[in-house]
Amino acid sequence: MNVFLAVLAFVVAFVAMEPITALVHRGVMHGFGWGWHRDHHNPRTRGIERNDRFPLVFAALAFAIMLVGAMVSSLWWLIAVGAGITAYGASYAIVHELAIHRRLGPLRPRGRWMTYLADRHAMHHQTNGAPYGMLWPVLARSSTPRTNAQ
Ligand SMILES: [Zn+2]
Ligand SMILES: [Zn+2]
Repeated sequence: MNVFLAVLAFVVAFVAMEPITALVHRGVMHGFGWGWHRDHHNPRTRGIERNDRFPLVFAALAFAIMLVGAMVSSLWWLIAVGAGITAYGASYAIVHELAIHRRLGPLRPRGRWMTYLADRHAMHHQTNGAPYGMLWPVLARSSTPRTNAQ
């Protein structure tokens, strides 16, 4: 095992998860997975959401990736990839579930960056459109609201 490669695999997996998550959110959750995601966009939902099945699926995928890494010696670095995916999932849970949707009430991280992320995520909840990302919620030019000025 090479420590440098392990750290690299971890960081690349973590960073890659943001655009992957944005694409999955747009294509799956707001596509054929809408049946699970709908209640997250319903403001009256309390407690466990159907949408909470998604993180279970993603955790199972990360576990499967790590399992392959543990069984195939030449693919050991997949353990670091799975750890990077898991770290991203934990960050997502802290930002989205705790800070933005306050699902554990007083356990609520705050700060200017969290406020920025919460504002951007509120746009998604208002429009069901962009931004679909969470830690780096980029807006495509075409997704900014049009004004009647032009
Ligand atoms: Zn949300
Ligand atoms: Zn959504």
